[in-house]
Amino acid sequence: MEKVNCDVLVIGGGPAGGVAAVTAKMNYPQKEILVIREFEKQLVPCAIPYIFGETLGCSEKNIASCGMAADMGISTLLGGIHDIDIENKIAYSQENAISFDKLIFATGSQPFVHESLKHALALNGVFTIPKNKTLIDELKAYSDQREDIVIVGSGFIGIEIAVEFASAGKKVTVVGGSKHILPSAFDSEIALQAEKIMLASGVKYIGGDRVTQIIDKNGDNIVNAVKLKSGKVVDAEVVILATGYKPNTGLAQKVGISLGHYGGIWVDEYMRTENHDIFAVGDCSARRDFITKEPSKVMLASTSAAEGRAAGSSLYSIKYLKGFSGTIAIFSTMVGKTAFSSAGVTEQQAKDAGIDIVIGSFSGLNRHPGTIPGAQKQYVKLIAMRHSGQIIGGQIVGGEETGEMINLIGLIIESHFNIYRVMSMQVATQPMLTAAPTSYPVVMAAIMAAKQIEA
Ligand SMILES: Cc1cc2nc3c(=O)[nH]c(=O)nc-3n(C[C@H](O)[C@H](O)[C@H](O)COP(=O)(O)OP(=O)(O)OC[C@H]3O[C@@H](n4cnc5c(N)ncnc54)[C@H](O)[C@@H]3O)c2cc1C
Repeated sequence: MEKVNCDVLVIGGGPAGGVAAVTAKMNYPQKEILVIREFEKQLVPCAIPYIFGETLGCSEKNIASCGMAADMGISTLLGGIHDIDIENKIAYSQENAISFDKLIFATGSQPFVHESLKHALALNGVFTIPKNKTLIDELKAYSDQREDIVIVGSGFIGIEIAVEFASAGKKVTVVGGSKHILPSAFDSEIALQAEKIMLASGVKYIGGDRVTQIIDKNGDNIVNAVKLKSGKVVDAEVVILATGYKPNTGLAQKVGISLGHYGGIWVDEYMRTENHDIFAVGDCSARRDFITKEPSKVMLASTSAAEGRAAGSSLYSIKYLKGFSGTIAIFSTMVGKTAFSSAGVTEQQAKDAGIDIVIGSFSGLNRHPGTIPGAQKQYVKLIAMRHSGQIIGGQIVGGEETGEMINLIGLIIESHFNIYRVMSMQVATQPMLTAAPTSYPVVMAAIMAAKQIEA
């Protein structure tokens, strides 16, 4: 076994680990930073759905670049850490014993499969979506030869994969527990718009139901149907379980690191575990919601990267006051040519949490005048607290620009802006690029929310 020394050891080379390593090097250039990761070729997880259709078409076009880390002098080892001597600060892989001063867990997440369906993973044709190139290539090769695809789960990963498979000419059915798709990010009137576009692309949706059995009718270990709670049976040559992810914390647990809610590693505001030489970032850490402060199951590359920045800069001293306290569910997806973006809580989630809210919404165009080529509808919905006017959620439907506009709403939420602050916000507008200055949808939605407070 080879001995290796470093100052900071990062376990995991996903978005959280990568960003934590780069930030650590920027803040502590004299320190030796080492990242250990399992795979030579690391997929960009968020683009995995696009491997299955026409957009990318293969996993080779979806490899994350590690160029920046190498250029900065960050070392990388391939391998899996299987044990850590916390007291003596040594981590062990098959080949190496790595001495460290600071340790960052960035071990990510793994597909979650409900106990009742776990045994079906042994059947040929049943897959999950792990962030692992070899396994994704197996699914791609298997599904290329087959037609009937059933996707279990109506979250954004299930829907993005469904639409991609349909674009490749497959017969796709999505089975979801909620009445409409994308239930955790969009209120039903917006989810319905996404669902209509998905249905028009040829994907079928069975909502308000649940897969209870994955069937191998011929007893030859090959899946051919799924049975639903309603009694329906749907033919399936390929079944994809897109039923969520769970923190990958087996190693942390083994070496005695305390876990928090939903099995994530317990961390404080600066991503420190109880042992201040050990940090955890990304999907493997326990999170709480920015607004409700309740435990959160949100797992996103963007928020993972933000945590990586917080940890990487705070390794040896707290250099900046951390800007966010809790995870904002913030993400975008494309269904057909329409973008759907969401940040913070939905109207329904706010009501469920007992928050007294007002809603402001506005439908306009993303160019001005509307005769500009490429002009598309742009709809913004804001959710604000009735008492303070503070904005706690937003949803946008529109063109590609919503991918960045939602980040503006994310910052509005994170900065505790209220609707009155947004009503007087100064924005840049340009006919070819944005909505009109006279009816900028985010500002107009704030005005509409204010009207509700005054009503
Ligand atoms: C299909 C799909 C689409 C997604 N789309 C989006 C999106 O559009 N936007 C968005 O924000 N998020 C998206 N996500 C979520 C996002 O990918 C995750 O939140 C993100 O990958 C978490 O980053 P991470 O670095 O914490 O963990 P991971 O990406 O899971 O990386 C963990 C790393 O740790 C390594 N590792 C684990 N254990 C060990 C060990 N013992 N030793 C060494 N290495 C180890 C793994 O090999 C891996 O490199 C998507 C996820 C999937 C699966």
